[in-house]
Amino acid sequence: MILPIVKYGHPVLRQKGERVASITPEIRQLVEDMLETMHDASGVGLAAQQIGRALQLAVVDVTGIEDRPSTMEIDGKRVRPEDHMPVVLLNPDITPEGDPVTGPEGCLSFPETYADITRPERVSVKAMNLTGQTLEFTAGGLLARAVQHEVDHLRGILFIDRMTTDARREIRSDLEKLQATTKAELQKAKGEAD
Ligand code: ZN
Repeated sequence: MILPIVKYGHPVLRQKGERVASITPEIRQLVEDMLETMHDASGVGLAAQQIGRALQLAVVDVTGIEDRPSTMEIDGKRVRPEDHMPVVLLNPDITPEGDPVTGPEGCLSFPETYADITRPERVSVKAMNLTGQTLEFTAGGLLARAVQHEVDHLRGILFIDRMTTDARREIRSDLEKLQATTKAELQKAKGEAD
């Protein structure tokens, strides 16, 4: 099922995710719905906060994106990222590696907003996967950027927080409009529910 994507201005985007204690049928369904929602929106990642749930859960899929390559290493060996997509990350821990690199970034919760964001070029990732096993890999390129962006979401951090002051100033009025629209929609939904 394709779920509605929460937009900037919704308070859940600022909430830290709770750890996922066990893989229940509900979590499996949620992951399936998040993958479907991410693919439908042509996104490379989606965090639980973006579908309104404050959980330590994100999905990432960089398949088919050739203009911004990704690398992946498992047990110190280079693997083809496509063979391991989509990645389901439960309770992820990441350790940044390498020099900071600057690249374009967008977010499904900020339609049509893009900016250059500087992040470490590689990241080592440790998470639980959907079978309850520990998943460990090192990501580079777009995959590293996507994982860091999603793990930020799980901590209530948004990519606008990592923009330069100048970049944020440039999109300030768009952000204010988006925030106002989201809040008005929330208010309306609340009114209908009362
Ligand atoms: Zn995002």
